Amino acid sequence: KLFGNLELDRRIVDGLKEMGFEEPTPIQQLAVPQVLAGYDMIGQAQTGTGKTAAFSIPMIERLNPRKREVQTIIITPTRELAIQVAEEISKIGRFSRIKVLPIYGGQSIERQIRSLRLGVQVVVGTPGRLLDHLRRQTLKVDQVDMVILDEADEMLDMGFIEDIEEIIRHTPAERQTLLFSATMPQEIIRLAQQYMTDPKYVTV
Ligand code: AMP
Repeated sequence: KLFGNLELDRRIVDGLKEMGFEEPTPIQQLAVPQVLAGYDMIGQAQTGTGKTAAFSIPMIERLNPRKREVQTIIITPTRELAIQVAEEISKIGRFSRIKVLPIYGGQSIERQIRSLRLGVQVVVGTPGRLLDHLRRQTLKVDQVDMVILDEADEMLDMGFIEDIEEIIRHTPAERQTLLFSATMPQEIIRLAQQYMTDPKYVTV
């Protein structure tokens, strides 16, 4: 089973090849077709399974490259993960010319505002700083059609659940929502029931 068989844009397959990714991991084999088909999805997978590419590949495929507005919001528990995810997306999207920006606390908000004005398509951020931009209206989400929660259980443990709910409520209701988590505590199940529509469940 190769990435070339997953009906992906040639540029994405080329980006993956440059990274040395030729074969999808099990979570990628399960998740990519579901996300490409437009379903909401819950992915239960640990770090190290290839979960980042599992959501990034179909996200890039569904992005409109001609639209220079934020179309995807990815929420991560830490600034390190935000940076890491943004880097992986820009590598996979290297030949697709994806504009991705990590935003997190501790970095100058003015600098982030200037970067956001440059026509970013994907924002990867920590909950507090994302909410800050949403409240200031320096992050426009009216064109967002995909929201991805990465390491949802970590965000729950860090006390970010209400921030996440507020962020989701800012985004259009007709979005596609993906949730990745290593474990599925009751509070994460509740979040999924409240904010997702008939999610497909995949686990490895
Ligand atoms: P993650 O679970 O997203 O943290 O990914 C774990 C590691 O696997 C990262 O270093 C990725 O670069 C790598 N990786 C992800 N997908 C693939 C793949 N299909 N083939 C080879 N390596 C991969």
